[in-house]
Amino acid sequence: MKRVAVVGAGTMGHGIAQVAATAGYQTCITDTQTTALDSAVERIGQNLEGGVERGKISRESADRALGLIDTCPALEHAVQEAHVVIEAVVENIDVKRDLFRTLDSLTGPATVLATNTSSLSVGAIASATKHPARVVGMHFFNPVHIMKLVEIVVHDGTDQNTINVASILTRDMGKEPIRVRDTPGFASSRLGVVLALEAMRMVEQDVATPHDIDKAMELGYGHPMGPLKVTDLVGLDVRLAIAEYLHSELGAAHYQPPEILRQMVEAGELGKKTGKGFYDWQ
Ligand code: NAD
Repeated sequence: MKRVAVVGAGTMGHGIAQVAATAGYQTCITDTQTTALDSAVERIGQNLEGGVERGKISRESADRALGLIDTCPALEHAVQEAHVVIEAVVENIDVKRDLFRTLDSLTGPATVLATNTSSLSVGAIASATKHPARVVGMHFFNPVHIMKLVEIVVHDGTDQNTINVASILTRDMGKEPIRVRDTPGFASSRLGVVLALEAMRMVEQDVATPHDIDKAMELGYGHPMGPLKVTDLVGLDVRLAIAEYLHSELGAAHYQPPEILRQMVEAGELGKKTGKGFYDWQ
């Protein structure tokens, strides 16, 4: 198992390619946009350079990792010899199902096909293939080269070998796998969103300032970052979409998006990316 292909070279794809190559895997990145491939290689180079400057990785290891990365505009060339293909394209079920149908026809049945979807049903993606047993979720977190968790999302038909391959690859990348059944929000969003939505309701009810609510979790519970700051980094629009999805799928009242979240999204206060959310980022 020494070759990885990453499909989609955006925010997540470039990071996944970086950690695969750093782990010693020959890594090919592909994307429908050739400009995305150029910028992925540039971002990987910058991340590695930053790692060398901060003493996190040696110059030799960084150079070796860069040398293991190829960009392949043609999907069939990128995946033809891969042992594991990791998909990180747009979060759209039709696009992902189309892609997995194609990947199924381009690769042998021993190749593991992983999706980095953050919310879609892995089973629904797998059902587009003739070999759903080799399909699994590998849910990485942003920024990939820093965040330690990978959720291994197992649908009803995923076989044990596929789970083993995904778990070994995760550990080789220096990350910790957790095994999660294919259910809405997996483990991370399902819990994290509850905390964030409740924190927003506390702002609505004037319990404390966003800063102090975050501090309660940071200093009282040992969270590295409070739920409102995390929401500002994720984007309030993204949080709203996930809350609406979880509310529709799971039905529980605690997933109902609070009014303050809807109002802030309507006002364009989306968090760090627009300069204002629960905090001022300008
Ligand atoms: P992005 O928009 O930064 O990158 C997506 C890339 O996929 C683009 O470069 C696009 O050109 C390419 N693409 C689209 N369709 C394609 C196709 N059919 N074949 C090849 N390339 C294609 O998106 P992202 O933020 O990297 O998210 C990618 C996936 O990762 C999504 O499923 C998302 O839900 C998931 N995810 C994102 C985050 C995050 O914080 N951004 C975290 C965890 C998981």
